[in-house]
Amino acid sequence: MAEIIDGRAVARELDQQTQEIVQSLVAEGHAPPGLAVVLVGNDPASEIYVGHKTKACERLGLASFEHRLAETTSEGALLALIGELNDRDEVDGILVQVPLPDHIDEARVLEAIDPAKDVDGFHPVNVGRVSAGTGGIRPCTPAGVVMLIKSVERDIAGLDAVVIGRSNIVGKPVATLLLAEGCTVTVTHSKTRDLAAKCARADILVAAVGKPELVRGDWVKPGAIVIDVGINRTQGGEGKGRLLGDVAFDEVQHARAVTPVPGGVGPMTIAMLLHNTAQAARTFASGGEGGMTQDQ
Ligand code: NAD
Repeated sequence: MAEIIDGRAVARELDQQTQEIVQSLVAEGHAPPGLAVVLVGNDPASEIYVGHKTKACERLGLASFEHRLAETTSEGALLALIGELNDRDEVDGILVQVPLPDHIDEARVLEAIDPAKDVDGFHPVNVGRVSAGTGGIRPCTPAGVVMLIKSVERDIAGLDAVVIGRSNIVGKPVATLLLAEGCTVTVTHSKTRDLAAKCARADILVAAVGKPELVRGDWVKPGAIVIDVGINRTQGGEGKGRLLGDVAFDEVQHARAVTPVPGGVGPMTIAMLLHNTAQAARTFASGGEGGMTQDQ
């Protein structure tokens, strides 16, 4: 039987590290780290995420600042708010919840965030620094994926890793981080030929696609570590929705370890967001320019 990687337990360990940073900053006389979350419009899923983030801040002793703006907010008004948050000392991290309404240019908004406060790690400066190996804030879900893999196997240098998916928010940065760990990385996607055969060579398989149970048992090498990033909502009986990952969980019991959905990658994302915010605050407090998260 494959080991089930308990994402909630690993997230709790990360929370503990975050709390230690918060407590040491406060003990030194600094304000607690502050996270500003900006939500434009009333997307129900985004409302839920923002609620979770605010609650997690309370739990770990971070300050949170919610900015809820109307769907009709202009790009100029949003950019002005980001400018203010960039200048406010009590704000160490800024998160703009996506998707944004169609009349707002998402890339322009994300690039307006001070890279030192870009705790989502999506600003091109952070993408570039992480890719060049010169520091930078690492994006939350990909950093969480690597932490889960390393909870099973500390030294993954030299292992063959296959990533399914090449999105800017998951697939590509996961590949970048695994390359930095010394893995030999293959990035696959919707145009990849012989996907199953490529996956079957992987010591580490990361699925970030958004297709329920795409990865079947015979795609997985015995003894592989399998990380399932996918979150797929399916209609269950009696109108009850069910969450499925990108991996057919029951078929991959010959793997060494596998993440469940839910309870695998999901809990890591918010934990990493708060960790990035606490790290940014630590760097600001030490007079640096913020956001170096290379120490995990
Ligand atoms: P995306 O739609 O931006 O990218 C999907 C990728 O999968 C693309 O690169 C595409 O080429 C590839 N793909 C599509 N069909 C394929 C196929 N049949 N074979 C091989 N590759 C295929 O999605 P995303 O934002 O990267 O998210 C991927 C999944 O991860 C989604 O289910 C999303 O909900 C989930 N997700 C989870 C978390 C979390 O916190 N757990 C965070 C972000 C995303």
